[in-house]
Amino acid sequence: MGQAKSELMRDWNAPDNYVCAKCVDDDFLKKVIRNNVNRQTCDYCQCETHTHSATPVSALMEHISNTVFYHFNNPTCGGAPYDEGCIVEPISTEDVLYELSLSCNDQLFEDIANAFTNKEWIRTASGNWASSHPHEAMSDSWSTFANIVKHEVRFFFQHPSVSKTSHWQEYEPQQILPVIGKLVNRLALLKKLPVNTNLFRARNRNEDENWELNEKQMGAPPPEKASAGRMNPAGISYLYLAYEQETALAEVLSRPPCSAAIAHFVTQQELNILDLTQLPRRPSIFDSARRNELEGIIFLEVFASEISKSVQKNRREHIEYIPSQVVSEYFAMLFEDNRRNKLDGIAYRSSVRPKGRNLVLFPKERSCIPQFDQVIFHQAREQTFSDWTAFSDAIA
Ligand SMILES: [Zn+2]
Repeated sequence: MGQAKSELMRDWNAPDNYVCAKCVDDDFLKKVIRNNVNRQTCDYCQCETHTHSATPVSALMEHISNTVFYHFNNPTCGGAPYDEGCIVEPISTEDVLYELSLSCNDQLFEDIANAFTNKEWIRTASGNWASSHPHEAMSDSWSTFANIVKHEVRFFFQHPSVSKTSHWQEYEPQQILPVIGKLVNRLALLKKLPVNTNLFRARNRNEDENWELNEKQMGAPPPEKASAGRMNPAGISYLYLAYEQETALAEVLSRPPCSAAIAHFVTQQELNILDLTQLPRRPSIFDSARRNELEGIIFLEVFASEISKSVQKNRREHIEYIPSQVVSEYFAMLFEDNRRNKLDGIAYRSSVRPKGRNLVLFPKERSCIPQFDQVIFHQAREQTFSDWTAFSDAIA
């Protein structure tokens, strides 16, 4: 396919109509309309205003077409393989617009679909069928990384290449951690946790147990007793806390009747944390200037849910937690923010209480007695839950 034909395929001929912001649902497209108004009547909803409120459809088409060709292409131009016909089933322009979630006035939708010269589409990236979008490349690289640290090799930070896989990847496995590091910096996921923030920690406590409810019992275990957890490798003690008492209880209790010791900690300094509990809102898919941001957020959504996903306690968890342990050790030991500050910990969503937030703190000093002087123990108490009503209320 020559350049001229390829360019021709990218053509569109918008109808000579005007549209108002009320006729589209996407916030970015509404803004495009409001920034280009030069008529008082909308040809789609027929509303008429005293001041200019409608924009030529062609102003919208520039952005919609740009997005369409970022995600789709004509089968021939996109390099789709042929074997007595294209082996990838092409889709219509209407289906392309549905896939991009274009929501607008019905007649406008039809006009936009008809405006494209090209009528058959396949999914592509960078115009090509075989390419990946950045978030797909990052997600693939993360999956490869997770598989390699679980089943092949764990300690490869210094090695130039460890991947034996032959399929194409955007990043080598040892590159994915710095890539995530840059991304969390760029998308402002590094937050400050104020001094005097309340945090909670719970421990199962059977009725016949009578250990003291003190800092030693309620703090992080000593390294020799630190078994592998979601974030910490075996033998390296981290301090697991929750922002809410309900989350702390939900993390350790499974069913009534049961008892728990609940400790209250307070931050005694401002903490630097990686906050995976509140990712930025996705920008519009039609806003090409924020495309890199959108790609990064989509990947981090996958990454954050992988890190906090529910893992069955069937002894396989020692394997399943390894990727998040390697990530934690990277953020604890190697990572620095733009001001060269080290991180105190990672906040992540609870897998057992979806609205709950957990915070894992890295030790300030790694020795026989790990130090977590980021927080101070305030008090602890015991609570018993004899039936489902009391239990459900406690973890609601
Ligand atoms: Zn309108």
